[in-house]
Amino acid sequence: MKSPDFDYVKAKNIEDVFASLHTYKDSAQILAGGQSLLAMLNLRMANPQILIDISGIDSMKGIEKLSSALRIGALTTHNEILNSDLVKLHVPLLAQAVPYVAHLAIRNKGTIGGSLALGDPAAEYPAVALALNATLIIQSSKGERRVKAHDFFLSLYRTAVQSEEVLVAVEFPLATSNHRFVFLELARRKGDYAMVGLAVALTMDGKTIRECALSFMAMDDKPVLAPNAMKALTGQHIHPESILLAQNALDTDLDPPGDLQANASTKKHLARVLLSRALTQAGESHV
Ligand SMILES: Cc1cc2nc3c(=O)[nH]c(=O)nc-3n(C[C@H](O)[C@H](O)[C@H](O)COP(=O)(O)OP(=O)(O)OC[C@H]3O[C@@H](n4cnc5c(N)ncnc54)[C@H](O)[C@@H]3O)c2cc1C
Repeated sequence: MKSPDFDYVKAKNIEDVFASLHTYKDSAQILAGGQSLLAMLNLRMANPQILIDISGIDSMKGIEKLSSALRIGALTTHNEILNSDLVKLHVPLLAQAVPYVAHLAIRNKGTIGGSLALGDPAAEYPAVALALNATLIIQSSKGERRVKAHDFFLSLYRTAVQSEEVLVAVEFPLATSNHRFVFLELARRKGDYAMVGLAVALTMDGKTIRECALSFMAMDDKPVLAPNAMKALTGQHIHPESILLAQNALDTDLDPPGDLQANASTKKHLARVLLSRALTQAGESHV
């Protein structure tokens, strides 16, 4: 199918974007890498009057180490993240997740801001952002607001980004030697959206889990934490008994709808499998 007609404007800077958003309000849509939006237009899932192309705004690109966070500009591409030594060193969970994002051609154009702002529940970055409780930085003509990932993903394709606002960057907390991270997913073919995925972030006190975040993707209408399994693991060592306790707790945490990839009971089974694999791997790994 072909997309509906739309107007197009290429923003030179963020002020241009705010001005166009103010003029066109909800009938405008931001275009970043276009790797999701252009497909949505062709499928007539979106029908904006005008596309505001932000891809030329340099201030929204790049990766920078701050004192307590790694700041990634919204227009940083998946491939730039994949090839970043800063990401490998300071946000290893993101480094583990990015090879699962689509294919090379899509990773050349698609951006982290586009993925986070889209809020696809089966996408990798939202699950990673939730596991690390990253900070999303949103700007409008009125100024800047910082939203924690726990409050950012609202429901299917709905995030805290309001009309006339732009996601400009995301800040991930820096990993320390007390952390262990594992990202795993199961997809029918490499590069496809996952049937189920899991981002694990553990803060260890020696061999004891002091804090734990388990963030699942493709299990709800947004990425979700598994609070009962997280509680079951806190204060435990990683061993077969604690893994089983956490797996059993997942029954009360996850209530996935079936989708085209798998029915609900298959997804719940796969979530248990991933949790066991991820915790076993975490037990053997170091940052
Ligand atoms: C075949 C195929 C396979 C794919 N597989 C995967 C996969 O396995 N995992 C995965 O995560 N993704 C996958 N994707 C999606 C890809 O990662 C996209 O690049 C990404 O989801 C969107 O980024 P984008 O820069 O292309 O955004 P766009 O497509 O330009 O925009 C996406 C949406 O976000 C909005 N938006 C974009 N940037 C901003 C911003 N800075 N502020 C506010 N709103 C903004 C747009 O208005 C639009 O609604 C796949 C895509 C294709 C075509």
